[in-house]
Amino acid sequence: MTEQRYRSHTDSIYGELDVPTVVNAAGTKTRIGGSLIRAEALEAMNDAASTFVELGDLQAAASDRIAEITGAEAGYVTSGAAAGLCLSAAAAIAGHDIAAMDRLPDTEGLPSEILMPRTHRTGYDHALRAAGATIVDIGTNDLHLGTGSTNVEPWEIEANITDETAAIAYMEKSYTEPPLDVVADIAHDHDIPVIVDAAAELPPRSNFSRFIEQGADLVVFSGGKGIRGPQTTGIVAGKQEYIESIALQHLDMHVAEAAWSPPKRLIDLDNFAGVPRQGIGRSMKVGKEELVGLIYALEAFMEEEQAETQREWQNRADNIACAIEDAGLETHVTGGSDVSVAPEVVINVDESSETTAIELVRRLRAENPRVYLGGDRIDEGEVVANPMCITDDEADYVADRIVANVEN
Ligand SMILES: *Cc1c(COP(=O)(O)O)cnc(C)c1O
Repeated sequence: MTEQRYRSHTDSIYGELDVPTVVNAAGTKTRIGGSLIRAEALEAMNDAASTFVELGDLQAAASDRIAEITGAEAGYVTSGAAAGLCLSAAAAIAGHDIAAMDRLPDTEGLPSEILMPRTHRTGYDHALRAAGATIVDIGTNDLHLGTGSTNVEPWEIEANITDETAAIAYMEKSYTEPPLDVVADIAHDHDIPVIVDAAAELPPRSNFSRFIEQGADLVVFSGGKGIRGPQTTGIVAGKQEYIESIALQHLDMHVAEAAWSPPKRLIDLDNFAGVPRQGIGRSMKVGKEELVGLIYALEAFMEEEQAETQREWQNRADNIACAIEDAGLETHVTGGSDVSVAPEVVINVDESSETTAIELVRRLRAENPRVYLGGDRIDEGEVVANPMCITDDEADYVADRIVANVEN
């Protein structure tokens, strides 16, 4: 019965391609397609596809909107938050030096170290290194020794700033420390920028301006997560001088200098000794359709009734939890605060059934449609159902499939 409520393997475009579809109770995960793009964005993309436009003009329009929303001086649309990190590093290293732009990722002789508290490091830092940066780890693991000390002290960051330092990178999560404003003060005392990875920190919308207010020079958000824009978009918001450097290293530079006049509010050519050639960002291009899609998704995201969305997520999570508990599985619902967006249903599979969490995740992923649960707590014998990327019907379906696949 329930299966019929879904576009199954055979009746979607993916069926034509013979690719199984996914019911996504794992949240905004890139490998299963991120979030579902908003209808407003899709419509705008369709429209954008039929006309030519100068990409610099379009980036300038996006910059104005991003600046308005974030309170930053300027903004830029990249091909994802990871690309935004790479370009931010490139801007921190090359600045307005077009010869340096031309050489990246070769940074020999250029200050190119990016300091990061060890506890802020993730696999995404590869994007910073891709620009030619070397990452310098700061701090220890002392917090976990139970001595009462913290992982990283502000003085440790300051002590590692040298003539080789190009920036400090900061990964924004509710638990990261030291506080961003403290780190920004240290950076600014030494005339270096702070790059904040806030890819998944939307909603709440207040985060658009929060990190800028706390002193970040560049903040990176994903366009394909909470904003629900095109999957291949990201936003960088920040200081004009860096955004300008990003633009010059990203736009297609197959231009005749004498005939090129980009919008001055995006790139002031008086700040540069000429025009560089294709830069490090050229392999991360953004199409006019994605750019327009992101702008319209942003607008819809700003107008959305956040409390209403939050209530929907909470109801969906509570319904899943109820249905599963009725079948004898132990669950609890976490989150849903203004710090971490969506509530999630944590299901203790190992303790309350004969099945293991890993086995359950595997079985569900092998179904058609595939059912994806969050696997972040799999080592603790728990699976997580996230309500952000499913409909109410799909939430019922997910609960049914979980119950059908455990033995207790
Ligand atoms: C998702 C994510 C990214 C990458 O974002 P994309 O838009 O997919 O490139 C980077 N950093 C963090 C912390 C993320 O969660």
